[in-house]
Amino acid sequence: MQISLKETAAALKSVQRIVITAHVNPDGDAIGSSLGLAHALKALGKEVQVSIDDDIPAAFSVLPGYELIGKPAAGQNIQTDLLVALDVSLDRIGQVAEVVSAPTLNIDHHITNDGQADKLYLDGTAAATAEIIYQLIVELGVTCDKDMAMCLYTGLAMDTGWFRFSNTTPNTLHTAAELLACGAVPNLISEALEQRPFSEVQSLAAAMQKIELLADGKVAGVCLDYASLQEHEAPEGLIGMVRVIEGVDIAFTLKEKEPNLCRVSLRSKGIDVTRIALQFGGGGHVRAAGCSIEKSCAEARTDLIRAIMQVLEEER
Ligand code: 5GP
Ligand code: MN
Repeated sequence: MQISLKETAAALKSVQRIVITAHVNPDGDAIGSSLGLAHALKALGKEVQVSIDDDIPAAFSVLPGYELIGKPAAGQNIQTDLLVALDVSLDRIGQVAEVVSAPTLNIDHHITNDGQADKLYLDGTAAATAEIIYQLIVELGVTCDKDMAMCLYTGLAMDTGWFRFSNTTPNTLHTAAELLACGAVPNLISEALEQRPFSEVQSLAAAMQKIELLADGKVAGVCLDYASLQEHEAPEGLIGMVRVIEGVDIAFTLKEKEPNLCRVSLRSKGIDVTRIALQFGGGGHVRAAGCSIEKSCAEARTDLIRAIMQVLEEER
């Protein structure tokens, strides 16, 4: 059932024990929103746990509360009054779904949200879930402090490509300004999160050598099979390098993270790439989407390129 922001605040106020979760393969918005909301609920005197079914990259230790993020263990049974899922539908929270049995409240900005939660607050116009969490903090009557601001600013900055992408709205920048006024330190966040080990920069260079141009240069992508990912770790930021190639409408990366399990990222300059991601059970936003394909790198590449070409054809 879809609810309003006011009802979302009321749902949070009406319970004492709250578990917050977000998607597997968590990004800055998933982590920043989770910690930002956790700080706000603690300020209200709630008992809060943050449980995400994945490893949290060490770079996020710049965020206050990083050490509070737990990972669910198989067979565990977490007793709580409410499970709050952020930046995700309930299908991508991993083992948290089994370990926690409680009513679910879902807060998200993905237009592809499946609406399976008991209560859903969805705002597809928000650049980031962190933008919604800031509004929620105001609605809850909590005073935004530096800890909340650091976390939410991170979510907002990272989901907008540091305020460069088309999802950046006047409200996004107003929110960012408020967060700075509350004590967020932008350079501390960007320096921590943009830093890369030397080996990863070299992996990025190796991966960039493999970028292929298709469809008269309208499509560009790179496929990294399991063997090559064993040699060079999966480089962060690769999709961003593909996206900027002149003339490219659709950019993709395909990484065979485990044998016969490929993670796909899609970006576009206008074409709705959720149409491609949804075909493989994924989702996301018009200009940034993703999915997994349970096939070898070569087979997944063929399927993915076929789907991309079909969408390009339909757009013509
Ligand atoms: P990324 O390429 O950065 O992993 O993801 C781009 C966008 O697509 C993000 O908003 C992310 O949440 C969404 N996304 C990525 N993979 C999946 C997926 O497998 N399922 C769904 N529903 N969304 C995804
Ligand atoms: Mn997000």
